[in-house]
Amino acid sequence: MLISILIIISLSFMLFTKMQKNKKLQNETAELKKSLDNMDEQAKIIVRTDIELNRTQEGLDKKITGLYALQRISHSISMTLIEDQIFKRLSPENLEELGFEKGLILLWDNEKENFILKTAIGYAEEDRDIITSYLNSAKEHFLKLTSKDEAISSVSLPDNFSDTNALHNIFRAKYFILSPILPNQNNRGFIFVATEKDDTLITEGDEELIKILATQISQGLENARLFEKTWSVQQELEKKVAERTQELASALEEAKKMSRRKTDFISSTSHELRTPLTSIKGYAAILLTGKLGKIPTEARERLEKINRHSDELGHIVNDLLDISRIESGKVTMSLEPCDLREIINKTDDLLSDQLKEKKINLEILVKPKEFQVLTDPAQIVRVFINLIGNAMKFTPAGGKISISAQKKDRMVQVDLSDTGCGIPQDALESIFEEFFRVENPINQEVKGTGLGLALVKHIIEAHQGKIWVKSKTGAGSIFSFTLPQG
Ligand code: ADP
Repeated sequence: MLISILIIISLSFMLFTKMQKNKKLQNETAELKKSLDNMDEQAKIIVRTDIELNRTQEGLDKKITGLYALQRISHSISMTLIEDQIFKRLSPENLEELGFEKGLILLWDNEKENFILKTAIGYAEEDRDIITSYLNSAKEHFLKLTSKDEAISSVSLPDNFSDTNALHNIFRAKYFILSPILPNQNNRGFIFVATEKDDTLITEGDEELIKILATQISQGLENARLFEKTWSVQQELEKKVAERTQELASALEEAKKMSRRKTDFISSTSHELRTPLTSIKGYAAILLTGKLGKIPTEARERLEKINRHSDELGHIVNDLLDISRIESGKVTMSLEPCDLREIINKTDDLLSDQLKEKKINLEILVKPKEFQVLTDPAQIVRVFINLIGNAMKFTPAGGKISISAQKKDRMVQVDLSDTGCGIPQDALESIFEEFFRVENPINQEVKGTGLGLALVKHIIEAHQGKIWVKSKTGAGSIFSFTLPQG
C-alpha cells in the first residue's frame, strides 16, 4: 500500500514536472513566434525604406540632371544676342533632361494684339495652330496670367483659377508648368512645359527650375532688344554720317568748282586788262615825250596822272594774276635751302630808303646762318616786302618793326611785329581774304588794294606753311608764318 502510494506520489511529481516543462516550452515557443513576427515586421520596414531611398535617389538624380540642363540652356541663351536664336536654344533634348517632352514659348505682339508662337516642341503642326488660336480667343485671361511673376503648374493651380480643365485641354497635357516671361512688360509672354508620363510628380523644385529658365529667357530677350536698339541707332548714325559726308563732298566739289571758275575768271580778266593797260601806258609815255607835239602843262599833269594810275592798275593786275596762278598751281615754288637772314637782308636793302623816310626802325633779331629754310627766296622776299610794307603803312613815324624767328615742330616760325595802329578783333578773320581792307581813317588816306595779304597767304601755303595774325586796335600787330626747315 505504501509502495503504491509512493509510486502514485512519484508519478504525480513526474507529471507535474513534465507539465511544468511543457508550459515553459509553450511560453518559449510563444516568445519565439513573437520575435519572429517582430523580425518579419522589421524586414518589411527595411524593404520599404530601401524602396523609399531608391525613389528619393531617383528624384535627386532627376533634379541634378535638370539643374545641369538648366545651366547649359542658360549659358547658351546668354551667348546669343539674336531673339530668334534664343528660342532655338530650347531643344527637345534639353527639355527631356528637364523632365518634359512638350514645350511652348509664346510672346505677346503689341501691334497684332495677339500671342505669337515662338517655339513649339512635341506638338504637331496642326496642334500648334489650334493651341495658338485657342489661346488668342482667351487672350485677356492669359495676359492677366502672365502679368504676375509666378509659375503655375498642374498640381499647384491657384484656387481662383477656375478653368483648370480648359488648360489641360488647350495644351493637351496632363502635367505641366507655365511660367511668365518678361512679366509686366508690353511684350510679355510665357514658357509652357508639359509631360504625359504618369509617374511624373511635379514638385515646387520643378516649378522653381522652370521659373529660373523663364527668367533667363527674359534676360536674354531684354539683352537682344537692347542690342537691336543700339545696333539700329548705330546703323542710323552711320547712315547719317555717310549722307552728311556725301553732302559735304558734293559741297566741297561745288566749292572747288566755283573757286576754279573764280580763278579762271580773274586770270583771264587780268590778262585781258593787261593789253589795253600796256597800250594806255605806252600812249601816255609817247605823248609825254612831246614827239607828237608840244604838251600844255595842264595836259602834261593829266598825262602823268594817267601814267601813275596805269602803274597802280598794273600792280593790281599783276597781284591778281599771281594769286590766280598760285591758286591754280600754275606757279610752282622753286624750293632751295636758304639762310633766313639773307632773305631778310635782301628785303631790308629794297625798303631801307622808305623806312628811313618814314622814320621807322627795323629791328632784325635773326642772326646770319641761324635758320636754314627750304624756300623759293624770291617769293619769300615778296612776303617780307608785303608784310613790312603794311607795317610801315600802319605804323606812325618813330615806330618800330621787329623780326624774330624760332624753331617749332620741324618748321621755322617767323614773327613780324609792329607798333602800329593794330587791327580790330572783328576784322582778324577776314584779313587774308582778297580785297579785304579795314575801314578806318588811315586806310582812307593810304592807298591799297586788299590783295597783299591774300597773295602772302598763298605763297606761304604753297610752301606748306601757315600764316596768322594777333592784334589789338592801338596795340600793334604780330604777323606770324611758318616755313619748312632747310
Ligand atoms: P592793302 O594793304 O593793300 O590794303 P593787304 O591785303 O596787304 O591790303 O591788307 C589788308 C588790310 O589789312 C589793310 O587794308 C589793313 O587794314 C590791314 N593791315 C594789314 N597789315 C596791317 C598792319 N601791320 N597793321 C594794321 N593793319 C594792317
